[in-house]
Amino acid sequence: ENKFTQSQTDVLIIGAGPSGLMAAYWMARYGVNARIIDNRDTKVFLGHADGLRARTLELFDSMGFQHRVIQEGSISTEANIWVPGPQGNIIRQAQIDIFRVDESPFHNTRLNQGRIERFILDSIREHSDLDVERSVIADSLEYDEELSNDPNSYPITVKVRVLGEDDSNPPCGQEIENGSEAAGNVVNRSNLLPDDWADLAPRKKPQRTQVETIKAKYLIGCDGAHSWTRKQLNIPVEGSNTDHIWGVIDVIPLTDFPDIRRVSVVNNAAGTILVIPRERGLVRFYVPVQTCEAGTTDRFDRSKITRELIRARVQAILAPFIFDFKECSWWTVYQVGQRIAAQSTKDNRVFLAGDAVHTHSPKMGLGMNMSMQDGFNVGWKIALAVAGTLKPEVLETYASERHPLAEMLLDFDRHWSPMFTDRKPGVADTKASEIALIGGRFEDFADGWKVFYPASSLVRKAEDNAEFACARHMIPGERVRPVKLRNQADGGALWTTRVLESDGPFRILVLAGDIRNPMQKQRLETLARILAGQSGSCISPLSRYLEIPGRFKSPVDVLTVHASPWKEVELFDFPEVLRPFDPMKGWAYDKIWCDDACIFDRYCDGRAYEKWGVDRVLGALVVIRPDQYIGWVGELGDVEELTQYLDGILVKKSPTNGVHSVV
Ligand code: FAD
Repeated sequence: ENKFTQSQTDVLIIGAGPSGLMAAYWMARYGVNARIIDNRDTKVFLGHADGLRARTLELFDSMGFQHRVIQEGSISTEANIWVPGPQGNIIRQAQIDIFRVDESPFHNTRLNQGRIERFILDSIREHSDLDVERSVIADSLEYDEELSNDPNSYPITVKVRVLGEDDSNPPCGQEIENGSEAAGNVVNRSNLLPDDWADLAPRKKPQRTQVETIKAKYLIGCDGAHSWTRKQLNIPVEGSNTDHIWGVIDVIPLTDFPDIRRVSVVNNAAGTILVIPRERGLVRFYVPVQTCEAGTTDRFDRSKITRELIRARVQAILAPFIFDFKECSWWTVYQVGQRIAAQSTKDNRVFLAGDAVHTHSPKMGLGMNMSMQDGFNVGWKIALAVAGTLKPEVLETYASERHPLAEMLLDFDRHWSPMFTDRKPGVADTKASEIALIGGRFEDFADGWKVFYPASSLVRKAEDNAEFACARHMIPGERVRPVKLRNQADGGALWTTRVLESDGPFRILVLAGDIRNPMQKQRLETLARILAGQSGSCISPLSRYLEIPGRFKSPVDVLTVHASPWKEVELFDFPEVLRPFDPMKGWAYDKIWCDDACIFDRYCDGRAYEKWGVDRVLGALVVIRPDQYIGWVGELGDVEELTQYLDGILVKKSPTNGVHSVV
């Protein structure tokens, strides 16, 4: 007999792909009561998405595992364009740099989705007991609109089935161990790294399928392109399937093609392929295998497309170079769909993230990146709202910040995809310049240098979107441009992507300027008195807001970066509130940083203030949101304005202290 149970959770995440795991990361960081379910028996191990953009890598650094990506991934430095040559051969037409020195510590990297899922899962485990509940499928959703305005209510009821031995649930796109050899995607110990082995063994399932009813305050649908959550909410999708069918194959190539370890577009009369070198000697090929007849875009016969057919297509397009493989780690066939959901939230209680909102061609290498950034954006907001610390209306900024980006994504894809689908010979000459042009036009957006978050309670823009004179290149709604700083206590150098850890609180970034200047030192001391709650006139922003229960005494923290020469000032020259004392850990040595050049590290060049557009004597004051984006910019003395900004976002402590009241 089926077993029925009922339970409650603050947050339910459906889907443990890249977007769901990013959202779960924040639940773990803030210690929120949350659950994450996935209908698959295991995580992804092979294949799927593989392209990581620099901004995503910056976020990984702030989460603490970017070093693992550096260790395992393969960096892409340039794109090569190959076109038909004069003697029926193919020749290299162009080498386009896809490497922007000075913009980020990290560069576009290839590493399969399964490893990224591993790293996020490990990080979640490091901070909480939250674990993905696998083989659990969401079956029905009821949403009570009447309860939507009460943040303490449970308007969401999801019935889930915990799949038992009696229920078959075929794995998606890969077979575990003795799976079908024909599929070619066999996962075993030999093609996995040891830290994935434990996940290989299918979990012990109950004998019979069980049913559970989960009541939740918030629901995040991270359930992929065919989003179940989206369908339950009747949220329409705009767009359609394109008529192009592609094969994708990850192999260890046996070839004399000279650019096999460089990203290449190879275009000849037989078609266009994309060559993408990967980790562990693998190379991915995107291969056009078929074009649907007009009017039949929703019907193509997948079974007709085999691994052998894809091999033959690559051979034809790379000829006269030879190409073959003995080892194929993963392959699949897909039809490109360009779709966007009309909304990404229902009443700011149910949210959609990742492929559930947008799908497009994988050849841009953006699917996983955008999905993770969606999950990252919505995750911290919901977690803080559930903790009672963030005003619930701030949740509106998920849609206002991320939905326009989904639209830009689709726009980019509409321009980018045709570059790889035009198979007519003779047009090859225009390809390199077109690819460079479109790549250049969308580069800021695609790599994540700019996110374009608009003005909102979380983003206080200057009038007419002008820059702030005190910090000209610190743009609210954008990321902090990464720089390397020296730690005042030990002199070591670290990128700001790591210093500004994604650990939960908002950060007041005190750009203290040059404290050898007596006037400046005085300004810093005035600020410090307010932050320490010693000024009498107003409550310090460090103790004004509700704590995050069990995690942080305050949702606002402080970090100082000064511009005096490192050797000319001491840690103890800085007011105590900027380097507080903990009876167990001593002084907070990680809170005072210096913008000074470092003889042993040429990236630490003492130009942080210059890159941020800040005066080296006068400094500035900046608020960094928990997701590392800039929220507010002002001068060192503007604490009142800063407090007004935070008052618009965070719940103040009430007179009786600790009572959750939305002020
Ligand atoms: P997904 O990764 O799709 O995760 C959604 C999860 O939700 C899945 O684990 C699913 O099992 C689960 N789920 C769905 N419905 C339910 C339910 N009712 N109950 C419980 N769980 C549910 N991108 C590239 O850039 N390059 C590629 O080559 C590429 N190849 C791909 C191949 C395949 C087979 C797939 C599926 C995707 C591929 N992508 C590729 C896209 C890329 O993987 C996605 O952009 C990215 O994974 C999106 O992340 P997500 O978390 O939003 O969704």
